[in-house]
Amino acid sequence: MDTDKITGHLILIMGPTGSGKGSIVRFLTEKFPELRYSVSCTTRAMRPGETNGKEYYFITEEEFDKKVMNGEFLEWAVFSGHRYGTLRSEIVDRLEAGEVLITEIELQGVQQLQAIVPDEHRTLIFIEAGSWEELKARALARAPISPEHLELRHQRYVEEVKSKPYADFIIDNTEGRLESANQEMAEIVTNIFNTLSTQHNDT
Ligand code: 5GP
Repeated sequence: MDTDKITGHLILIMGPTGSGKGSIVRFLTEKFPELRYSVSCTTRAMRPGETNGKEYYFITEEEFDKKVMNGEFLEWAVFSGHRYGTLRSEIVDRLEAGEVLITEIELQGVQQLQAIVPDEHRTLIFIEAGSWEELKARALARAPISPEHLELRHQRYVEEVKSKPYADFIIDNTEGRLESANQEMAEIVTNIFNTLSTQHNDT
């Protein structure tokens, strides 16, 4: 990607599973119709309630390999045994056309994008969901989970909180804070749109 051509903005959302990233992103894309969600590819299985092409493009290992070889990813990473990748086709033209994009991503992907998308065109937001003990209690209250699965989730949590120090903003979405988290996020997005429109008016 030719970084000089970027006029838009990329919002990267990080945070542990169960932190409510998905519902915050949904709130934002409904509130700001011009905010575009970048749909990633993954080799993990679809979860109940997910739709191919909406949360992710769910593809096979072979299809993922092919896209890697064709250079279709701006970044990709292995996380928790599965591969995830951001498609150039979802991002490049839109950033060059001045659009504001939002996507969920883990730390390895963030580090790759930091080298590609200049600071002033990207905002990193970490969704804070509390300690592992709090998240575990919440997950267990929703459904029974086997000790093995719980350990796996714990490992993922440990990996996912490593992205926190990279964040430009940390949003508190601990128990009962969804409404204020949504409002804080809406303010950040509004500021990004306002800054872009000021820059466009100046040129
Ligand atoms: P999940 O399987 O729970 O949907 O996602 C696991 C992790 O992968 C989350 O931290 C999520 O934000 C991250 N992720 C989702 N899409 C991408 C992507 O395109 N690239 C990278 N590097 N990580 C992603």
